[in-house]
Amino acid sequence: MKITRKTFDEVMFPCYTPMDMVIKKAHGVYVYDNKGNKYVDLTSGIAVNCLGHTPDGVQKVIRTASKNLIHVSNIFCNEYTLTLAKKLLHKTGYEKAFFCNSGAEANECALKLARRVAFEEYGEQKNEIISFANSFHGRTFFSVTVGGQDCYSDGFGPKPAAITHIPFNDIKTFEKTISENTCGVILEPIQGEGGILKADDEFLIKVRELCDKYHAALIFDEVQTGVGRTGTFFAYEQTPVKPDILTSAKGLASGLPIGAVLTYDRFAKHFGPGSHGTTFGGNALACAVGSYVVEKVSSPVFLNKVVEKSEYIKECVNRINKKYPLFDGIRCEGLLIGLVLDDAHKGMSGKLQKCCFKHKLLTLVAHGDVLRLAPALNIKKDKIDEAMKLLEESVKDFLSVQ
Ligand SMILES: *Cc1c(COP(=O)(O)O)cnc(C)c1O
Repeated sequence: MKITRKTFDEVMFPCYTPMDMVIKKAHGVYVYDNKGNKYVDLTSGIAVNCLGHTPDGVQKVIRTASKNLIHVSNIFCNEYTLTLAKKLLHKTGYEKAFFCNSGAEANECALKLARRVAFEEYGEQKNEIISFANSFHGRTFFSVTVGGQDCYSDGFGPKPAAITHIPFNDIKTFEKTISENTCGVILEPIQGEGGILKADDEFLIKVRELCDKYHAALIFDEVQTGVGRTGTFFAYEQTPVKPDILTSAKGLASGLPIGAVLTYDRFAKHFGPGSHGTTFGGNALACAVGSYVVEKVSSPVFLNKVVEKSEYIKECVNRINKKYPLFDGIRCEGLLIGLVLDDAHKGMSGKLQKCCFKHKLLTLVAHGDVLRLAPALNIKKDKIDEAMKLLEESVKDFLSVQ
């Protein structure tokens, strides 16, 4: 069967506009299309393939585990799922885990849990959720409505209610908004899709304090920032606070679909039998890989290297930027990196991304103003050099045609 990029337009929902190629295979940091082109990948499947593409270790876990078990549903339990739960709880100090298949599902579960806890402990009037402008929490109707970009939730009919969006890092507005009726506050400790924007420590301290005061659950969406991405296993470890409920997904199973919600007994106990569920969630195979990923990525040696490579990329980009000025700043949170376009090139991140693609470098954007990089966490220094060479050529080319 002849498959080309045009096939996409013929057979797929048009909700994506993928680059002009069809991927055939990928290994490590390299992606190969079906015309024989080779690309250096700084996207890792949007911060998912944390150990690179098709790593041997993950292949081996899949081979071994799949001889025993692939899926059994949640009417039974299995060793792989319980092992991953134990590992995650041990690493974080939380007491209960719930597994699902994606970031949106993890947030859906966390938000439903916040509502259910408040409903059972305080009554139905306590149902308001506070979230933040430019946040992103996934695409189910609840999670996308909670997300801070109306354009993603408009036009689908009546939205889930009692959701308030306020500016990020704005203590005064938060103080005025939270009340006895707030059941939950959800935020990304570093906004990913929003442009690699970090929550201020003072802001988080205030949010934690007022969530305690008003008995609102504090939810951290660590779908993008978790699993070593920012240099610690979870990003909250670098903040002065700890959330009541934490959501994880993306890199957790290095490319297999998985999502997780971690919390304390006092919250989890409100999800009694029948209150929530999923067919695939906690799938044995995904969890087997998840356990492998957690062991690898949570080691201090591995995490230190993430920080070192982050510094190194920052140096490289600074050097490129001196030669070909294009960026106003670099937002470097471990290997979640945002290159902020200067005033003359605001809104052009998509164009720059296309120019990188032309030079066989795969990148992400975060809105119009930020080129986002999320390389594999185990990317080697010589591969970074290779990627930076391509970035330099791309930037030079981009500036010459603007
Ligand atoms: C990617 C992302 C999600 C959504 O995850 P899916 O697996 O696409 O549902 C939610 N929150 C954040 C912060 C994300 O980066």
